[in-house]
Amino acid sequence: MKVEDFLEHYSHAIAAFGICAVIVTFPDRTPMSALLGGGLMALNYYFSHRFLHLFPGPLNFHLNLHHEKAGLPRWLELTLECILEFVYFMFFPLLFQTLFNDWIIPFSVILLLSMTYTSYHIYNYSILGSKDHSRHHMNPEVNFSPNFLDHLFSTNFDEEHEDLNPGIVNVIACTLIVLYLKRWVGWTDAQNLATK
Ligand SMILES: [Zn+2]
Ligand SMILES: [Zn+2]
Repeated sequence: MKVEDFLEHYSHAIAAFGICAVIVTFPDRTPMSALLGGGLMALNYYFSHRFLHLFPGPLNFHLNLHHEKAGLPRWLELTLECILEFVYFMFFPLLFQTLFNDWIIPFSVILLLSMTYTSYHIYNYSILGSKDHSRHHMNPEVNFSPNFLDHLFSTNFDEEHEDLNPGIVNVIACTLIVLYLKRWVGWTDAQNLATK
């Protein structure tokens, strides 16, 4: 993917995500550290989703519930997918950073981006519908999302670039929720996670 393509199609959405990552970690982290965490979370989403498709089995909620449909009412399927997906996308960053007690990805960024991606998958992709995401349901080898990583790792369905700008609304709404929770619960985003 050319740099011009990247900037033309994704710069607004990525800038919004970056600014929100900086806001939720302020003043505990430098902007660079928040942006690094945001970038690692995008990779986490992409590879965790790919990983999910590697182990078919009764415990794989994503394949059984979301891809194959379990015959559940639509509202129940989406609610379960929403909860399980949210927990799953936080799982690896929380596990590894707890084990090593080094929060390279700030906790607030993990929460913010897991919330944003989950809301985007459930609301924008599943409820409103999306041409690009429906490709992933037709062929689970393509369009894992986010779309720029599909282009980068050659798992894009075609050469079209998905418009990620609607996600700006999601990330702003999720930023407000994270800021509220952070104030209410009282954690900080220091390198070693701590509560005030
Ligand atoms: Zn889906
Ligand atoms: Zn999938």
